[in-house]
Amino acid sequence: MKAIISHDIDHIKVSEHLFRDVIVPKYMARMHVELVSGKISPREYILRWSDFFKNKWQNIDELITFNNINNVPSSFFVAVNKGIGLNYTNDSALIWIEQMQSRNCEIGIHGIEFNDPVLIKREHDLFASLTKLNNFGIRMHYVRNTKETFQLLASSGYKYDSTEHSFKNPYKIDGMWEFPFQIMDGWIIENGKSWQSVNLEQAKESTRRIIDKADKENLKYLGVDFHDRYFSHSYKTWLNWYMWLVEYLKQNKIEFINYNNAIRELEA
Ligand SMILES: [Zn+2]
Repeated sequence: MKAIISHDIDHIKVSEHLFRDVIVPKYMARMHVELVSGKISPREYILRWSDFFKNKWQNIDELITFNNINNVPSSFFVAVNKGIGLNYTNDSALIWIEQMQSRNCEIGIHGIEFNDPVLIKREHDLFASLTKLNNFGIRMHYVRNTKETFQLLASSGYKYDSTEHSFKNPYKIDGMWEFPFQIMDGWIIENGKSWQSVNLEQAKESTRRIIDKADKENLKYLGVDFHDRYFSHSYKTWLNWYMWLVEYLKQNKIEFINYNNAIRELEA
């Protein structure tokens, strides 16, 4: 089994949310719940305020650097449309896409449109024209999908998708590779709540169980979704969990690969 780690870009700046959605009040509520329930330390609480005033809600550079040191290929999904709490502009996205490209990252789209064929195709073409990329993949924001979504993505020309949550090997739908994934940071650390509800040891325990299950089911690839936003001392449990996970996979002789190289292996 190899591991494919990817990162969804949900936020870039705080200011993109001000007076546009309810993300900021939710952020405030969450950090107070987490402080009072003892899930975060006073230091993390102060750092959350500091991120807020610095207007910095992404940790892309820091994450790429960590990945590079650990031989993890960086694979990102970046949005070109807005929706459900995702509100950054194409200009903001492009600054980071250029940075990712200059650091040899794999880039796909963090999709908003999931059920209208015309809008799905339009989103695909917009990403292609903004990035000058062709042949890229997608993961839906909030992994939204209907019975038709994957079919529609395939006919819009996507090379791969990684929206499905299941313990299955990659499979092809009309020329598009679907890469089911098994681990998402929020599923582990929030565990059904809207805030951190487990500690690091509990997070490690449930992650080990998922990896064991993937191994038992003979999956070729373990899919992991980790949001760059949490690669920060403001989210210490999340940061420590990700660093532990990379180390744990290395110790278990699980190599890292990105989607494009996995497709090369699958098609060889
Ligand atoms: Zn998202």
